[in-house]
Amino acid sequence: MAKKVMVITGGSRGIGAATAQLAASRGYAVCISYVSNASAAADIVRAIENVDGQAIAVRADVAREEDVLGLFEACDEAFGPVTALVNNAGVLDKATRVDEMTAERLNRIFITNITGSFLCAREAIRRMSHKHGGQGGAIVNLSSAAARLGGPGEYVDYAASKGAIDTMTIGLAKEVAAEGIRVNAVRPGVIYTDIHASGGEPGRVDRLKDMVPMKRGGDAFEVARTILWLLSEEASYTTGALVDVTGGR
Ligand code: NAP
Repeated sequence: MAKKVMVITGGSRGIGAATAQLAASRGYAVCISYVSNASAAADIVRAIENVDGQAIAVRADVAREEDVLGLFEACDEAFGPVTALVNNAGVLDKATRVDEMTAERLNRIFITNITGSFLCAREAIRRMSHKHGGQGGAIVNLSSAAARLGGPGEYVDYAASKGAIDTMTIGLAKEVAAEGIRVNAVRPGVIYTDIHASGGEPGRVDRLKDMVPMKRGGDAFEVARTILWLLSEEASYTTGALVDVTGGR
């Protein structure tokens, strides 16, 4: 069987870390990136190696093109060309209204969440596409329910960046469909991870959970299982799909 090699951006914590562990348990060699938390990334690599999986961690800011190039080169060297990409790295900023947002904040959100995902997709396609001599592959982009809810009063900027990810998923899926590559997106709702603390409200999931039809927040592994399904042969005729993992919200 062909070797399964996954790149997961932002694999040191949260949904990316859960995806890395699940992927390794299903036979993928996993290359995770992180931007600042080297010890969290090392913990995930150790956890994977402890159960006889294969993983490396690479410091790579997806907002910096040279870092993205280095991430995929490190993966090439360690495991060979990527066959599955999870465009997971994403950031938000403190909850605020649009009339308070600085250009610096907007640029940071957009370059990380949008440009970063495009750059990683580009590098993956250069290795996966039949057009480039590759064996095919699959990409999953992390969007958000915020793309359709809009994030009013909290982070319309972040929500808009995820709207761009939805559009990118639809367009790119069609662009590379005949080249052996499937492209899908997962749109999580409120999931228990550190991202809410970075928005200034660590207890945000518990505040919102009663608005979720299932009356609870999600677990990172519940998102990871959907990502792994979309990347697998079980989803062989699914491309350009935006899959909500939101407890019905
Ligand atoms: P998280 O817990 O805050 O973890 C973020 C991860 O991304 C960390 O591994 C972090 O690395 C990495 N990262 C941040 N900026 C980066 C950059 N510039 N370059 C490379 N890596 C970077 O986030 P999460 O909640 O798991 O979210 C993962 C994805 O799901 C994001 O795209 C997010 O928008 C989306 N999502 C999350 C939720 C939710 O409720 N949690 C809902 C909808 C969508 P360090 O450890 O080095 O900081």
